[in-house]
Amino acid sequence: MASIKYDHVWKRFGDFAALKDLTLDIADQEFLVLVGPSGCGKTTALRCLAGLEEVTDGAIMIGDRVVNDVPPKDRDIAMVFQSYALYPHMSVYDNMAFGLKLRKTPKAEIDRRVKEAAEMLHIGHLLDRKPKALSGGQRQRVALGRAIVRHPSVFLMDEPLSNLDAKLRVQTRAEISKLHQRLKTTFIYVTHDQTEAMTMGTRIAVMRDGVLQQLDTPQNLYDHPANMFVAGFIGSPSMNFFEATLVRGDGQVLVDFGPFQLPVPPSRVDAIADHIGMPIFFGIRPEDIHDSHYVPRGVDESARLMTVVNVVEPLGSEVYAYVENGGREMVARLDPRTKARTGETFEVIIDMTKMHIFDRDTERALI
Ligand code: ATP
Repeated sequence: MASIKYDHVWKRFGDFAALKDLTLDIADQEFLVLVGPSGCGKTTALRCLAGLEEVTDGAIMIGDRVVNDVPPKDRDIAMVFQSYALYPHMSVYDNMAFGLKLRKTPKAEIDRRVKEAAEMLHIGHLLDRKPKALSGGQRQRVALGRAIVRHPSVFLMDEPLSNLDAKLRVQTRAEISKLHQRLKTTFIYVTHDQTEAMTMGTRIAVMRDGVLQQLDTPQNLYDHPANMFVAGFIGSPSMNFFEATLVRGDGQVLVDFGPFQLPVPPSRVDAIADHIGMPIFFGIRPEDIHDSHYVPRGVDESARLMTVVNVVEPLGSEVYAYVENGGREMVARLDPRTKARTGETFEVIIDMTKMHIFDRDTERALI
């Protein structure tokens, strides 16, 4: 069993706390992604699990064993780093075999495992080459292969794709997901890239300043972010946020933005009833703002807003338009047929059934 538990873990470097009371349960065979901006403590969390850093307080468990005092080599963990850290003077084969040789694994077994991993990673034809004769993507596979041959019960990966170009990154991302399905072991994967997190993780832990913000499935993080930080971090372009107040008017509930007001659909009134009269942050994702000429079927059209278009970014399959009303700018992801043109007025429909409401002080999601 390679379930993992961080139990109220603190890691301090002098006065600075890089991990603050991190509690996290990771199931056996899960693909957990740790994501957050640079410096939020992702790498530190991995290094504590691998035994490369000592925790200051709290406990880390692998299975039902507390590993705080277990040396790294006895934790049955393999770690793949952003820098591949291959031995330049050794062939690919020897790079992959090295750890097993140190452990005095029989030669035939080493050979079997190296060839099996090479086949999985499609690098069988490269086994005699030295790292300098490999592309970045191939080197990354060798680094993965070196971890795979050890048959660890936990794989830790720290930004393993960040040295690859965009296309290769997408391809390797899918291969790592396949590898996880094939190896059936626990993967913990660190990235600052929310797309990587969303596409790879069975669950995602979002961190900020050493504090876990939310642990959830990709879809739940997207649909029900716990606070404004998660809401803004997950999704690209980011969710639009505005200061607003919930008010009653004309027999309905309205979101009052100052220069304009938008009606709350009856289906969502109950959820926000307790917050009427309160200042809030209103959030709406770019895909929930539509060109009034191309509104997807089923979308409630009662929240209409005249805007001026500041910028139009055509991407082929969709168009991003930055539009504003009364100094409130928002980005909308529009149907590619849109007639939105820079400098012109433009009517959008805001799908208020998809709105997010956050407490103005705590920034926690209210609905
Ligand atoms: P990145 O994506 O940039 O790698 P990260 O989320 O992985 O960031 P960490 O490397 O875990 O962040 O670092 C978290 C914080 O702890 C940072 O502010 C960093 O400067 C600090 N830190 C990490 N290692 C040490 C150390 N050995 N001594 C002092 N501070 C450290």
